[in-house]
Amino acid sequence: MKVLVINAGSSSLKYQLYDMTDETVLAKGLVERIGMDSSILTHKPTGKEEVTEVSEILEHTTAIRKVLEKLTDKEHGVLSSVDEIQAVGHRVVHGGETFKGSALVTPEVKAEIRRLFDLAPLHNPPAIMGINAAEVNMPGVPNVVAFDTAFHQTMEEKVYLYPIPKVLYKKHRIRRYGAHGTSHQYVSRVAAEFLNRPIEELKIITCHIGNGASLTAVKGGVSVDTSMGLTPLEGLMMGTRSGDLDPTVVTFVMNKEELSISEVNSMLNKHSGLLAISGSSSDMRDITDGWEAGKPNETLAFEMYEYRLRKYIGAYAAAMNGVDVIVFTAGVGENSAIVREKTCENLSYLGVELDKELNKVRSGEPRRISTPNSKVEILVIPTNEELMIARDTLQIVQESK
Ligand code: ADP
Repeated sequence: MKVLVINAGSSSLKYQLYDMTDETVLAKGLVERIGMDSSILTHKPTGKEEVTEVSEILEHTTAIRKVLEKLTDKEHGVLSSVDEIQAVGHRVVHGGETFKGSALVTPEVKAEIRRLFDLAPLHNPPAIMGINAAEVNMPGVPNVVAFDTAFHQTMEEKVYLYPIPKVLYKKHRIRRYGAHGTSHQYVSRVAAEFLNRPIEELKIITCHIGNGASLTAVKGGVSVDTSMGLTPLEGLMMGTRSGDLDPTVVTFVMNKEELSISEVNSMLNKHSGLLAISGSSSDMRDITDGWEAGKPNETLAFEMYEYRLRKYIGAYAAAMNGVDVIVFTAGVGENSAIVREKTCENLSYLGVELDKELNKVRSGEPRRISTPNSKVEILVIPTNEELMIARDTLQIVQESK
């Protein structure tokens, strides 16, 4: 079965086409600047040359039509006909409390995703546009939605509730939902497979650290706590997001600086984190370069980032009364040996022992970077949210038949 995975943003659309007989990627690509003049479609068929096309793409329906044209193109295509695509999987950011797993798209499911617009005003509307665009371009082909929040729906009430008036939860569903669920679930499963141990008996801390960053405590294969909250702002210090702070900072700053709600939201989401402390960049490569060169602002940014990451690892070891495995994944987690080294250096009290040489090895494969003596297995596992979505899509479509 061939499955197309779509990740639709407000002005972009990423895609990957899978042949699920052997889980290979046949082609992938990206449409950028949707709705602006000169949209860019970058199409990379496996084993063939990448092509870029600039044209006017005003909305998602046209974007998917162009993608399908590329996928069936004589020169750059990988399919003889669109009919070969038997299912489409969509990434959706917020599934609220309704979706505890991926789901087949029905009118009711779409209505529920729309109802959740309030909780993810920037992210859920484009997902609906992506689903509608797939339905228009591929009538009769089943669509499946996979939610970033679904994996975390196993958290207990004592974990997901905030200690604020309960009426706010009842009225507005204010609680911890978490994010990056597809990634945390994927890497925790791969970790258990890699170690050849049943996931049911493992306590795993998964560190998904990229531009956005979150940690999850995975006990017995389910999420028991995660660092992102009502929105993906809570928790770790990130590229441009603050992560945890005293909530009074918000009202204090709004008052003193006469900031509006959208201005303070923008400050915390786009102008904080590594960018704010370094004053130069949100990219960990620049931060570690600056740290190595002894630049004071980059050094402080790096130290704050590592300290906060380590504090959360300690918290989740406490939450699970121990930890067997720590997994590093996503842009920083997979690539930054120095972030991993510095973080693990101060986890010796947990019995963590990093093999510094193994830590420096680069490979796109799951690998162990701890010594044989380490009491905690330290793994680097490349995440693959698209594959996880494709697997869910295949399973749900087969079950629905
Ligand atoms: P997103 O959260 O947008 O999906 P990614 O998981 O792709 O992001 O992570 C992107 C980030 O990964 C970059 O901003 C950069 O900070 C970091 N990164 C990528 N490569 C490296 C590297 N070699 N060393 C350190 N950091 C890296």
